[in-house]
Amino acid sequence: MKIFVDQEKQRQHFPSGFLVNGVVQPNPEKPERMDRLLEGVARGGHEICAPKDHGMDPLAAVHTPAYLKFLSTVYTRWQRIPDATPEIFPNIHPDRRTASYPLSAVGQAGYHITDMSCPIGAHTWESSRWSANCAVSAAQAVEGGDQFAYALCRPPGHHCFTDLAGGFCYLNNSAIAAQYLRKSHDRVAIIDVDLHHGNGTQGIFYERSDVYTLSIHADPARFYPFFWGHAHERGEGAGFGYNLNIPLPRGTGDEGFMKGLSDGLEHIKAFAPSAVVIALGLDAFEGDPFGGLGVSTPGFTQMAKMLAALNVPAVIVQEGGYLCDELGGNLYAFLVGYEGGA
Ligand SMILES: [Zn+2]
Repeated sequence: MKIFVDQEKQRQHFPSGFLVNGVVQPNPEKPERMDRLLEGVARGGHEICAPKDHGMDPLAAVHTPAYLKFLSTVYTRWQRIPDATPEIFPNIHPDRRTASYPLSAVGQAGYHITDMSCPIGAHTWESSRWSANCAVSAAQAVEGGDQFAYALCRPPGHHCFTDLAGGFCYLNNSAIAAQYLRKSHDRVAIIDVDLHHGNGTQGIFYERSDVYTLSIHADPARFYPFFWGHAHERGEGAGFGYNLNIPLPRGTGDEGFMKGLSDGLEHIKAFAPSAVVIALGLDAFEGDPFGGLGVSTPGFTQMAKMLAALNVPAVIVQEGGYLCDELGGNLYAFLVGYEGGA
């Protein structure tokens, strides 16, 4: 399987902290995640490929011009503020999105960043841009005839909306890949198996019927992202019926997860996409530091086989999955399972 990653550029983004229960903690979305994931790639003997620079077009197909301008310029503008911090954390948010668009870097940070987990540093834009380039390059490989390809996206993307960063995510790599696939596929599905609900992805396609969004995740009633991911969220307007959330009780293990996935895949089969994007979070793992669900390492192989059995071209996009000894092994287990099941 082709693996797209730019180790140098994607490693540079190094967020210092995030706020947990009112306390500043080290940010778990560390460059070291790439090392662990690459160990899994090496173990599988996959082909590592350099992503191409696809420029702004694939990003602009998903994100607003104001948001992309903000992401690409705000660091420089923030540094002109006397005594500014080396990273941008928002300190004021509009209560409702009908608010006017502000001119200042401080105002825009509050407008475009939804939580305290995604500070913007000197390299955030470049790392995010290259993470997205991996997703587009993997989609291009699939367009070129590969049955599947994997994008080692870091930073991840599925919590990012059209104009809103959140949950360690700045550009929605899975959505960008799906939109790219739409050039030659009438119907594309995004299947999100990350521990957390793919709220940004849901938001981007919520009123559309051409991209089906399915997410299986820990119940957000008492878990991030709290405001999205509930079963009653089914899409709006033309998109009604084209979004499906399968929230699982905290601690759900392999059996419950595969049951949820199996139910979700029945809806995907009825939608009959000609290509899929798999938003592959590995944080549903029983040993992940977030501790939300209880999927085992063999569980990731089983999950991959179920997904591969759809038998449609697939772009696999890395989402979450945090530092633990098994992180690389879980990626290995998934990719080997996918190749074996396809
Ligand atoms: Zn996650």
